[in-house]
Amino acid sequence: MPSIDSKTTDRIALVTGANKGIGFEIARQLGRRGMTVYVAARDRKRGSAAAEKLQGEGLAARFIELDVLREETIRSAAATIEAAHGRLDVLVNNAGIADREDGLPSRANLDAVRRTLLTNFVGPAVVAQAMLPLLRRSPAARIVNVSSELGSLALNADPEWEHAWAKFLGYNASKAALNMLTVQLAFELKDTPIKVNSAGPGYTKTDLNDNRGTQTVEEGAAEAIRLALLPADGPSGGFFSSAGPVAW
Ligand code: NAP
Repeated sequence: MPSIDSKTTDRIALVTGANKGIGFEIARQLGRRGMTVYVAARDRKRGSAAAEKLQGEGLAARFIELDVLREETIRSAAATIEAAHGRLDVLVNNAGIADREDGLPSRANLDAVRRTLLTNFVGPAVVAQAMLPLLRRSPAARIVNVSSELGSLALNADPEWEHAWAKFLGYNASKAALNMLTVQLAFELKDTPIKVNSAGPGYTKTDLNDNRGTQTVEEGAAEAIRLALLPADGPSGGFFSSAGPVAW
């Protein structure tokens, strides 16, 4: 069975929320490995500018409109990729939000919780369903869900954890739910070559946290890249950070 390695060419990848932050860096690094990368973004201007920047670096990057809250853009992106390539090799569900009105369970704005669950969990599920027929046509497709250690129930329950203070009801629940998508989809696809994993980027300096994160985007993208390039004997249905497996 063919595996995806660092010399991969003629592979097609789709990265959601790729106009900036960790998603942009994931798109760049997949492009550097010779893949054709669809830089998916909800905003045409920001997405086109990001794709052009990667093209300027000599990478095979293409903008594609995709808002994870607008199903018609997801269907249309799938149709575009199908018409151009007939398949998809790598899907990175990276798009996500952290809402300022989210917070502790006693105080979180429930509309913010709803918005966050829709974007960070339902959106990736819709994208995965829409792209699955294309991923099934790849010899060795990989799905990476960009989760967060804040989605770990075990770490949330540990009062000694260094990020124990970070209790955002909507955000943390959305990433726990995204991890459920990983586990269930991996189970459903266990007899196929498709591997599905969750990546925890670690606390990374991006707009999501007003650039307070302590890691670079290169560091934040590293685990998603590793999981996108897993060989045929790699894991499926797991949750990993650069430091290794993360407790559910
Ligand atoms: P970011 O710089 O704010 O980037 C988020 C990306 O998601 C942007 O491209 C944004 O597009 C896009 N997005 C938001 N809502 C969308 C929607 N409805 N449809 C399509 N795209 C949408 O944040 P980031 O830190 O790179 O976050 C990337 C992923 O990493 C997220 O899933 C986040 O939860 C996860 N993560 C980040 C950290 C961290 O410390 N930074 C830690 C753990 C996990 P616009 O530019 O149009 O808003």
